Order: sequence, then C-alpha cells, then structure tokens
Amino acid sequence: MSIERLVVIGGDAAGMSAASQARRLKGPGELEIVAFERGHFTSYSACGIPYWVGGDVTARDDLIARTPEEHRARGIDLRLRTEVTEIDVARRRVRARDVDSGARSWTSYDKLVVATGARPVRPDLPGMDAEGVHGVQTLDDGQALLDTLARARGRRAVVVGAGYIGVEMAEALINRGYEVTVVNRGSEPMSTLDPDMGRLVHAAMTGLGITMVNDAEVTALLADADGRVRAVVTKDAQYPADVVVLGIGVRPETALAKAAGLPLGAHGGLLTDLAMRVRGHEEIWAGGDCVEVLDLVSGQERHIALGTHANKHGQVIGANVGGGYATFPGVVGTAVSKVCDLEIARTGLREKDARRVGLQLETVTIESTNRAGYYPGASPMTVKMLAERRTGRLLGVQIVGREGAGKRVDIAAVALTAGMTVEQMTALDLGYAPPFSPVWDPVLVAARKAAAKVRNL
Ligand SMILES: Cc1cc2nc3c(=O)[nH]c(=O)nc-3n(C[C@H](O)[C@H](O)[C@H](O)COP(=O)(O)OP(=O)(O)OC[C@H]3O[C@@H](n4cnc5c(N)ncnc54)[C@H](O)[C@@H]3O)c2cc1C
Repeated sequence: MSIERLVVIGGDAAGMSAASQARRLKGPGELEIVAFERGHFTSYSACGIPYWVGGDVTARDDLIARTPEEHRARGIDLRLRTEVTEIDVARRRVRARDVDSGARSWTSYDKLVVATGARPVRPDLPGMDAEGVHGVQTLDDGQALLDTLARARGRRAVVVGAGYIGVEMAEALINRGYEVTVVNRGSEPMSTLDPDMGRLVHAAMTGLGITMVNDAEVTALLADADGRVRAVVTKDAQYPADVVVLGIGVRPETALAKAAGLPLGAHGGLLTDLAMRVRGHEEIWAGGDCVEVLDLVSGQERHIALGTHANKHGQVIGANVGGGYATFPGVVGTAVSKVCDLEIARTGLREKDARRVGLQLETVTIESTNRAGYYPGASPMTVKMLAERRTGRLLGVQIVGREGAGKRVDIAAVALTAGMTVEQMTALDLGYAPPFSPVWDPVLVAARKAAAKVRNL
C-alpha cells in the first residue's frame, strides 16, 4: 500500500492544528506529513506577545504550545526555516527554499494545506526602516522590540494604530514605564466598535495617562543620524519617540496562493467550502488568517484574523484530511481585548455593517455594573445592543467595562449563533449572585430594553 503525503505550509495555529489532528487520525504508516515553516518557531501564541512585552508573561517559551521537537516526536516531518516559494498545482508539488543556505528543492504532495497566516500592513513611508520601529506579528518581532526597549535612550513610545493590537501594546508599554502616545487614523480607538463605544475606550485610555491622537494619518518617521527613530510625523504634528510600535492591521498572506491560481475573495483571502477545502481544488485545504470566513449574521464573506478561528480551521482540516468529517460553518465576529483594567468586547454587526447589508435596526445602550451595586468592587459597565427592526433578531453587542465585562459578550455570541431575538434573550437563565452580577445581568437589561423598543414600534 502506498503512503499518502500531506504537505502543510505554515507552522503555527492553523497549519500545526491541521497536521496534529490528521496525525491523530492516521499513523505514520498511512500518512506522511511534511510541514514547512519559514520562521524559528511552531505553534506559538502571537496573542501572548503584548503580555510578554508588558512583563505579565516572563519567558518567551511560555508562549510556545508545541515545539518543533514535540511535533517531530509525533511523526511530523517539520522543516523549520524553510520557505515555500511556489505551489505547482498541476504537478501537485511545492518548491521550498532553505532560508539559511538558500538551497531549493521540490516536494510532491497528495494533499496540501495552505496556512500561511497574515502579513502586517507596513506602509511605504519615509523612515519606516529606522531602528526602533517594530511590528509585533511573530515571536522574533516581540524579542526585537524587547531588545530595543532594553537599550532605548528615553521612555517615549508611539503606537501607530488603535485596533486591539495597538491598544494592547499601549498597555504593554505603560506597564514598562513608558510615556505612550497612540496615533490613530480613525475617529475613535477600536474601530471594530461603533464610535460611541470607541469614545468610552478613548476616555479610559486618556485616564490611564495614554495620549490618544485620533483622525491622524502618519506621513513619515524621523530618525537621528545614527539611524534610530526619533519622531512620528503626521500632517499636523510631530510626536517624539524612542520606540515606535506598528499595529495598523493585517492582510491575508496569499501571494503564493494567488500565483498558483487558487481562488481569492474580495478581501484577498482564500475561498474555501464548509470543509475548509479550497474551492475547486479537491486536494487542497486552507485555514487561519489566510482565508475569508462567512459572517453568519450578515451572510457575507469577511477577513478576520483571529487565533480562535485559526485553531478551529486547523481541527476541521485535520479531521477531513485524516479521513473523518468536520465543517466550519462561519463566525459571528466575537472578539475580546483589554487595555489595563478596561475590558472591551464585541460580537455581531456594528451599525454601519448592518446598514451596509440593508438591515434596518434599533439600538439601545445601557449602563449597569459588573456586580450587585452594594457588593465591594462593583464597577460600571456599558452594553450596546443592536436588533433588527420589526423581527427583533439580535444583530450585535458591544461591551466596555471593568472586571467581568468582556467575557459577557459570549452570551450574545451564543444568542447570535442560535439566531435568537432580543425578546427571547430576556428569558435566558443566566447565573446570579451579588459578587458576579446585579440580579438582572447587564446583558439581560440591554435585551429587555431592546425588546421593548422593537415591540413598541
Ligand atoms: C500581537 C497579537 C495579538 C493577538 N491577539 C489575539 C487574541 O487575543 N485573540 C485571537 O483570537 N487572536 C489574536 N491574534 C491573532 C492570532 O495570533 C492569529 O489569528 C493566528 O496566529 C493565526 O494563525 P495562522 O496559523 O492562521 O497564521 P500565523 O500565526 O500567522 O502562522 C502562519 C505561519 O506560516 C508561516 N509562513 C507563511 N508563509 C510561509 C511560506 N511561504 N513558507 C513557510 N512558512 C510560511 C509564517 O512564518 C507563520 O509562522 C493576535 C495576533 C497578534 C500579532
């Protein structure tokens, strides 16, 4: 019996979950698995980088879930520091280059998994290559930033971008004792929220001592004669900087896939079916940050780069490649993050997303607390809820507050997945005791108010 070969491109969340799951289902006697990773690490948590840089996590290796040696011990032929440079779909083979020696070779496959992740946006601006300007996509990036912090001349940091990575990095730098300025192109931080909720994040960041500059487009970075960054320039001002961190977003890393003629969507991500098989290609799967996903609320394809999806994609791919059966139905767009003690969460559609797809909606915003008002440590929480006009179907929830606020969004994520109305949500049997919530949980208060609004129209 001939042994099939599975080739995986990309050695992190999606790729190695797929390889590991396939290996669980098929032993080395049935399936040979070759995984290519161009970096130094496998199965690492980029999500943990802000907490490592900020000092909450002390060792880089704590962010590595499974080392190359552990993968090899499970029968995966892991080729580290090896970059795939071409996919030859017609002849079912990939070309790879050893990053250190430059040596090139072809490897044939019966099945292929593309899990190349995402590429951070790095605008082509003067001064972008100055020393002290850092992205935070990989563990190598995190280490390089820590090295810069160790030898920085001063303690002024500028973070460019105020999405969740920018906001988390602002916290990391505050924790390191830096004076932090966040320069943001949008009108408020956290553009994954509606601006009225972003305004709450803005106020809290200001309260933490972070200087928030909105509506500001970076035009250049200035460096000293020795090549070290010294300022970030916008149209209207200059912000002195001893270190600059970029968090301007990511795009799917699909140059290889595009060159191979694989189908890409409007956002540049690979298009797959429910089994995560690349559309029109029986023997090729793709998952993680390099694919587009179906938004179950809007019914449209989106690109959302999150580890929680990448791990699930990998599991689904591994099950299917290994001879089992699994599907990934889509997402509702749930995400949670924090800046110092402020928790920020969202799921479903923002107002503009709903309008873009032709949905009419009602919105309510309520103020409540994370615990019973009389219980020590009770602190305010704002919940915004969006419901479809007339039907009352839940469309989205955004939450900003302190301890216990963020993960409450999961209630709404489940309700969205189940297609519940806000009226149905009012009857959800959620847990209550004074240390955990008021007798009416803030999410239920929002649902009641939203249901009343829908009913009375
Ligand atoms: C700072 C930060 C914080 C984050 N926080 C969160 C969070 O709190 N929650 C959350 O859900 N998500 C978070 N994420 C996102 C999460 O890390 C990603 O969604 C996840 O890592 C995606 O996994 P992936 O396997 O698709 O891609 P990646 O992790 O990008 O892995 C792709 C791998 O493929 C390799 N590769 C690419 N091209 C080639 C090639 N041609 N040949 C060989 N190898 C190749 C790359 O080197 C890389 O190791 C965060 C990301 C960052 C950067």
